[in-house]
Amino acid sequence: MLNLEKSLAAFNEAKTLMPGGVNSPVRSYANVDCNPPFIAKAKGDRIFDIDGNEYIDYVGSWGPMVVGHAHPNVVKALQEAVTRGTSYGAPTLLESELAKLVMKVYPSIEVIRMVNSGTEATMSALRLARGYTGRDKIVKFIGCYHGHSDSLLVNAGSGMATFGVPSSPGVTKGTAADTISVPYNDVEAITKVMDEMGDEIAAVIIEPVAGNMGCVPPKQGYLRKIRELTQAHGTILIFDEVMCGFRASLGGAQAAYGITPDLTCLGKIIGGGLPVAAYGGRRDIMMKVSPAGPVYQAGTLSGNPLAMTAGIETLKLITAEPEPGEADYSRMLTLKTKKLLLGWLEKAKEAGVTIQAHQAGSMFGIFFNEHEVYNYDDSCASDQEAFKVWFKSMLEQGIYLAPSQFETLFMSGAHSDEDIDRTIEAAGKAFKAVAESRR
Ligand SMILES: *Cc1c(COP(=O)(O)O)cnc(C)c1O
Repeated sequence: MLNLEKSLAAFNEAKTLMPGGVNSPVRSYANVDCNPPFIAKAKGDRIFDIDGNEYIDYVGSWGPMVVGHAHPNVVKALQEAVTRGTSYGAPTLLESELAKLVMKVYPSIEVIRMVNSGTEATMSALRLARGYTGRDKIVKFIGCYHGHSDSLLVNAGSGMATFGVPSSPGVTKGTAADTISVPYNDVEAITKVMDEMGDEIAAVIIEPVAGNMGCVPPKQGYLRKIRELTQAHGTILIFDEVMCGFRASLGGAQAAYGITPDLTCLGKIIGGGLPVAAYGGRRDIMMKVSPAGPVYQAGTLSGNPLAMTAGIETLKLITAEPEPGEADYSRMLTLKTKKLLLGWLEKAKEAGVTIQAHQAGSMFGIFFNEHEVYNYDDSCASDQEAFKVWFKSMLEQGIYLAPSQFETLFMSGAHSDEDIDRTIEAAGKAFKAVAESRR
């Protein structure tokens, strides 16, 4: 048994200080009926709790830690940067450097604005789309999560889905009324909405690879159809690549599927573990953002020098030219992920447990479903009890996974072949535990 004594005491205290003891809901482990380990430090693919337990980490701070924790390049650059001051609220060379690194792999981003969180990126992109088109309505997809701004907190996945709240108290009816939600991966549904009121719709916002209902890639041709529909109605297409950016492929889902959105939201990886996100895209649209244009958006800490530094070092590592004969960073991650999932599939089969394994580059996850998973309803039909048994068994064995069926797992460059093998072995035991729990 894991000893989590100190974590339990820490959690009990934290619950008196913060709602649910946490600063972001899914961290509370409420969904898996256990208490969260409190983390003391992390290095490479390992994370260590305050009781001294060590885990192989596939959460990666929910995506950002693509080069592993405390990568020496990132640490060194941050140590140097911090001695130069932590914030100036004035322009720096670092902001242009990060902008150029991003634009090199996202050619659809002609102009970019840095912000501090994915929530800010999507909220600002929507305001911009509304300001640009002069229209109020937006379309989102059920189970897609775009942060917690009011217009987008309607039928959002992961934390929301986990806690069974379709929308949040505090979001006004008026706001929710301007948000139209349609099922993911359903061409007919989006076609119908666009045919009926496309000319009133400012933006369609989508996770081009869904990651907040578990990992659910788009069906063949789905994104292309959405691109055609939005183009036909002068509706802005926003790809929320906060999670799938730099993961579905280096150039994100837009490169992987060959679709050019009007605006893109990025986050998680571009901050290398510090709070950074961004939105950007077509020059004519982005030039409407203040002070170039009338659509207001600002931030005291936006473009923060430490955050820019962590982002720059991380992007340098993942965009570096590979050694001759070696796979580039993103390909290397994809191969590691494939190896892990093939191992899990084999172990599940041995244990007689049917799973659906999904991968998009270095994003991955499994569902305990008999049938294929294409949307949020399918994801909700996954066997939650099986998930809990699986999750707890993996944690006991030192494998740190997201404590919810509705979250995606992430591979990093720090995951060694040995650690992946160990994770496959652990999965064997965990699937057996699932099989036994069903007897
Ligand atoms: C994480 C996430 C967000 C929100 O980002 P925060 O930094 O948590 O505000 C938005 N969209 C997607 C697709 C995400 O995965």
